Amino acid sequence: MPLAATRFTYVAMTAPLIDPFQRAITYLRVSVTDRCDFRCVYCMSESMTFLPKKELLTLEELDRMCSTFVRMGVEKLRITGGEPLVRRDIMTFFNGMTRHLDSGALKELTLTTNGSQLERFADQLYAAGVRRVNVSLDTLDDQKFADITRWGRLPQVLRGIDAAQRAGLRIKINAVALKGFNEEELPRITEWCAERGMDLTWIEVMPMGDIGNENRLGQFWSLKDVRAEYENHYRVTDLSERTGGPARYVRLEETGQKIGFITPLSHNFCESCNRVRLTCTGELYMCLGQEDMADLRKPLRDHPGSEEPLEQAIRAAIGLKPKGHDFDYSRQQVDGRMSRHMSHTGG
Ligand code: SAM
Ligand code: SF4
Repeated sequence: MPLAATRFTYVAMTAPLIDPFQRAITYLRVSVTDRCDFRCVYCMSESMTFLPKKELLTLEELDRMCSTFVRMGVEKLRITGGEPLVRRDIMTFFNGMTRHLDSGALKELTLTTNGSQLERFADQLYAAGVRRVNVSLDTLDDQKFADITRWGRLPQVLRGIDAAQRAGLRIKINAVALKGFNEEELPRITEWCAERGMDLTWIEVMPMGDIGNENRLGQFWSLKDVRAEYENHYRVTDLSERTGGPARYVRLEETGQKIGFITPLSHNFCESCNRVRLTCTGELYMCLGQEDMADLRKPLRDHPGSEEPLEQAIRAAIGLKPKGHDFDYSRQQVDGRMSRHMSHTGG
């Protein structure tokens, strides 16, 4: 092969993933399943139809896919779903990713979970190199927990959180802010997190997927109001810290706690976005709030012996990453509404 061509290939394979707005893509969220053992009312309808198995990337394909992204500069992998820990043999995948942590190419391997299976997996996750876990928990009331998750039981999740902390995993709690549901629990949830040394992030409910009869506008509790509620109880200081994601942080002076706010609707966070999302079927979504996606499963499956077609498809997809999303509740209509569920794209 002529020298010039060799050099071109070399540069093409190692150049970082930069999108058209000069954002370096270093963070990949991977949904490993669309299934879940809960049916949270804002996320799924009670009767969900899940994808046939053959549509899903196998564990080996997930490994190839993630390894390719790591080779192309992704430094942080967050595994999500559906509920990632209900995917059969999921530890095989986590254990496979350990080699990228060991080589230093991957800086962080994390997951977002509903916590139901943590009691079983906490030690194994720690052994695989996971150090931080986000656990989604919207209420500390047994009955309300059963109501909001439909199928979940709070004590099981609390045992999972205990096991995770014992294993040495750092926990962040993610709570969806729901008007008239967990409003009055804000001080209790905050203190519970403080006592256990866990960070807490509030998420605004987003218009994702068909969830049956639930009324999203009725559920919407603006994080501006959540913040105002904190100011009624604590001295609140803004922090300049950014993670490249949609979260903004404050410190509560009384407890020293860091509280995050993920405000996709009332605040625009797109300018510093460093992430893309891979679905469990191998579709790459360049933006959580846009329908544009690239099918990466085809180049992966069509070329089992070569990663080059996959790399080219990834680069082409990143070249289409849009500037930002279109969510808008401002006219009391759910504009920019997404037809896919959060459990498909991965939250
Ligand atoms: N099952 C895992 C869990 O619940 O953590 C991971 C997947 S779940 C889709 C990821 C996150 O998305 C959770 O924190 C959940 O609360 C959040 N989520 C789901 N549907 C949402 C919606 N419509 N608006 C805002 N957040 C949502
Ligand atoms: Fe399952 Fe997570 Fe969706 Fe709840 S938010 S239904 S736990 S995927």
